[in-house]
Amino acid sequence: MAPPRSASGAPPQGGAAGGPAEPAPRRLLDGGLLTADDLRGFPEPGSLPRGCSCAALQCAGWESIGAPLAAPAFRLVGTLRDPAVEEPTVEEWPGSRFWSADAPIAPVHFPYNRCEVWACAACGRGFLQYTEYGGYYIDHRVRQLDPALVV
Ligand SMILES: [Zn+2]
Repeated sequence: MAPPRSASGAPPQGGAAGGPAEPAPRRLLDGGLLTADDLRGFPEPGSLPRGCSCAALQCAGWESIGAPLAAPAFRLVGTLRDPAVEEPTVEEWPGSRFWSADAPIAPVHFPYNRCEVWACAACGRGFLQYTEYGGYYIDHRVRQLDPALVV
């Protein structure tokens, strides 16, 4: 009697921080790879209540922040970095000046293909976070996630 083939090897990631996994995994909370459709599911920034603590983050385009987004004010939703891709492309979306406020959000193009996706824990506003590692510095950049700009 052969044992059933298991879906080989549970992925090793997701541990470290300690504590059991969420009992009911929810697609948008598992820290996994997100798609353009997932990004389009975020709330329109203009529709969110003003006065949330995250309103201090003015980042329609990419802005440098001193410290990365972190819990509990923000929660990690997922990543756009495909673990199956060794070295994501540095190609930008054609014709875009990607630091501008109206640049398209193109998940498979630079710099989005190296981003983490975070959400404000209070209002759900989405943020993209891109961390640039230079020789002597680390630069944390965030951009508000406007679903209307997702391509
Ligand atoms: Zn907020």
